[in-house]
Amino acid sequence: DTKSVARALLSVSDKTGIVVFAEKLHARGITLVSTGGTHRILVEAGLPVLEVSEVTGFPEMMDGRVKTLHPKVHGGLLGIRANPEHQAAMFAHGIEAIDLLVVNLYPFEATAAAGKPYDDCVENIDIGGPAMIRAAAKNHQDVTVVVDSADYEAVLADLDAHDGQTTLTLRRRLAQKAYARTAAYDAAISNWLAGELAIDAPDYRAAGGALAQEMRYGENPHQKAAFYTDGSHRPGVATARQVQGKQLSFNNINDTDAAFECVGEFDPAAGAAVVIVKHANPCGVAQDESLRAAYEKALACDPVSAFGGIVAMNRPLDAQAAAKIVEIFTEVIIAPEADEEAKAIIAGKKNLRLLLTGGLPDPRAPGLAIRSVAGGLLVQGRDAAVVDDMELKVVTKRAPDAREMADLRFAFRVAKHVKSNAIVYARDGATVGIGAGQMSRVDSSRIAAWKAGEAARAKGLTDSLAKGSVVASDAFFPFADGLLAAAEAGATAVIQPGGSMRDEEVIAAADDAGLAMVFTGHRHFRH
Ligand code: 5GP
Repeated sequence: DTKSVARALLSVSDKTGIVVFAEKLHARGITLVSTGGTHRILVEAGLPVLEVSEVTGFPEMMDGRVKTLHPKVHGGLLGIRANPEHQAAMFAHGIEAIDLLVVNLYPFEATAAAGKPYDDCVENIDIGGPAMIRAAAKNHQDVTVVVDSADYEAVLADLDAHDGQTTLTLRRRLAQKAYARTAAYDAAISNWLAGELAIDAPDYRAAGGALAQEMRYGENPHQKAAFYTDGSHRPGVATARQVQGKQLSFNNINDTDAAFECVGEFDPAAGAAVVIVKHANPCGVAQDESLRAAYEKALACDPVSAFGGIVAMNRPLDAQAAAKIVEIFTEVIIAPEADEEAKAIIAGKKNLRLLLTGGLPDPRAPGLAIRSVAGGLLVQGRDAAVVDDMELKVVTKRAPDAREMADLRFAFRVAKHVKSNAIVYARDGATVGIGAGQMSRVDSSRIAAWKAGEAARAKGLTDSLAKGSVVASDAFFPFADGLLAAAEAGATAVIQPGGSMRDEEVIAAADDAGLAMVFTGHRHFRH
């Protein structure tokens, strides 16, 4: 799938490296075609170059707004070489193939960033450049497109390694880069205009999203908001079918996502699982044989917080679970499916939203997590690490027994979805105390232990639910104090990433307290 390069069109605003690159293309027998400014400097360097106006038979006009927008250019980029009809059209209209396109765009971003006047910014919106880039990238089966001077070397190396031809691998990679460039370019224009118009909620469609819902307001009533899907079709709140209830609010969507992503960690074949979320943190998670039993256990962890919560489950909602859930005020239920009887029960609560996703998300799937910071976007791969794939290392004298081990895995699975610093007490496949979002790990430990005591009191029990439980920490214990707080509360086993400077000290403290402890080697920060 290599393709030879006979003709190249060069049209660049940023002229870095272009003369040397053009010389090397010329030395390889490639015919050069170029636009005004680029043409001038190549001629000055003594290179034979055709002007694009000689190719089109039209002068560049309207201050350069129309230079390359012509069938002789676009036909030469788009014509499929192996298609006889395309070839016949090219021949009939005197269109010559362009095999290599080298374009970088008018410096719109730099002009806007420099705060130049409105008209200057508008004039720096490149039209012909993106049109050619998109055409060449579409026809990457035949055409090589270069949008970045950093790729000049790679093209030359490919040509030399393949007898003056480029490989499909390179052309495809460059095509992907080309579309990323034009997408970013248009996004920059759209965001600049949004700024000029003082629009509160910029249109992220420009960044590849599709508008799913305009909301009355955002996290607070004075903030505008909208909801976009990202085209990934991941089962979840963005792609779910809403069976009933009011429109979801911004906070509902955020919390529902947290709940469903968490419950997606639990394989439905291994048991029914239920997650209850408040303010994007789980306040109860449990696994059992039936959804109803799992819900009851999850609710028991923190019945006060669960009021007005979001309930997510990993199996189709059935009538038994539905009847139990509607006993208290719940904002949203999200499930893969629901049977008719369950739907009828939910229908009795007009405002309760029921979302059906048709499936569960794959916790290991790649994908992006994005958040905004002043002046930028922070982008990372989603946390696709799963405790089942981790090599758990017992570091204490005592190893966890089978029941402890199952609960340790359960607790670490949940801790991944709790805001840092996260401390999760669990017992018999249910959380019994969750400490979330504290600035100090000891505070999270204390809060989790205190909640386990509260949950016991709510049940009329004298012993804290932490007694005989296990505890997970999303990151290592920097000191022994957090671990000792857990031992004091009654935990018998600990799971944590390990890797602290003071691991020795923490392990010694665990041994002294008779705890069993395992290291995962992976942490689950969630800020
Ligand atoms: P030059 O300096 O060679 O005169 O111009 C190079 C710039 O013109 C490149 O940034 C290229 O993307 C842009 N360009 C090429 N053809 C057209 C066109 O038809 N219209 C507009 N607006 N820009 C073009």
